[in-house]
Amino acid sequence: MITVLEALNLSTDYLNKKGIESARLNAELMLAHILNCKRLELYLMFDRPLDEAELQNYRNFLSRRAQREPLQYIIGEVEFFNIRLKVNRSVLIPRPETELLVEKIINDFQEKNNFRFLDIGVGSGNISIAILKNIFQANGLAIDISEDALALAKENSALNEVESRISLLKFDFLKDDIKSLGKFDLIISNPPYVSAQDYEALEPELKVYEPKIALTDFYNGLTFYKKIIEQSSTLLNENGRIYFELGKGQSENVNMMLKEKGFNSIDIIKDYQGIERIVCGELK
Ligand code: GLN
Repeated sequence: MITVLEALNLSTDYLNKKGIESARLNAELMLAHILNCKRLELYLMFDRPLDEAELQNYRNFLSRRAQREPLQYIIGEVEFFNIRLKVNRSVLIPRPETELLVEKIINDFQEKNNFRFLDIGVGSGNISIAILKNIFQANGLAIDISEDALALAKENSALNEVESRISLLKFDFLKDDIKSLGKFDLIISNPPYVSAQDYEALEPELKVYEPKIALTDFYNGLTFYKKIIEQSSTLLNENGRIYFELGKGQSENVNMMLKEKGFNSIDIIKDYQGIERIVCGELK
């Protein structure tokens, strides 16, 4: 028989040996998920024995984590901007940097009534759902090339009770007819912005487990920004705005494309590491 405390200690050692960072935290989050409790509640039940099924489950989680599968895929959920989302290997795991994008949009649009957004590359639905949860008059169209991602975004929008204000559509932004999408007050995108070259150097958590089409454009990283900006006059209403998340070193290029197209009031926001991560602008 093995108790919660013993299991945590043994598994922390194991994950440490396998080179997993924050081994103790990983161990706690996985065990809390299995025991269906909050992480800190584990501390009130150190003496609780694990039954055979729990132990087997835990062993399975640990071996997956030791092989570098991201924790979020193992436990199947993530917290983003204070909302809970399901995730699986068909979508990118929402990142804390993307919360900056959502925060900026909420700040800028809180006062506006009835605006309509287009979310290009919805993934798990994180961005759209966080906006809809915080701005009750908003509604949007969210597109993705992946049917599996759309199914998950649909599930997440239902779990968060915003499904009546979001339409989900399978759409290939680089190939399909842009005009058919309609007009919007803002376009939001955290597109696949890793270049083909940088993709090769990503760590295994990303490269082996996260969907490649969500990460890279298989080219120079700028494909989606370019296409979205080119199509912006077709997609945007008067004084429409664009909000992008950017990869490291892309801000100058994207900024230039926006200016050339006639965008003004351009704002750039740095992330926690000082990287220019969010850019937005308004079409004259
Ligand atoms: N919109 C999702 C996110 O921001 C998915 C983005 C993507 O797959 N490139 O996490």
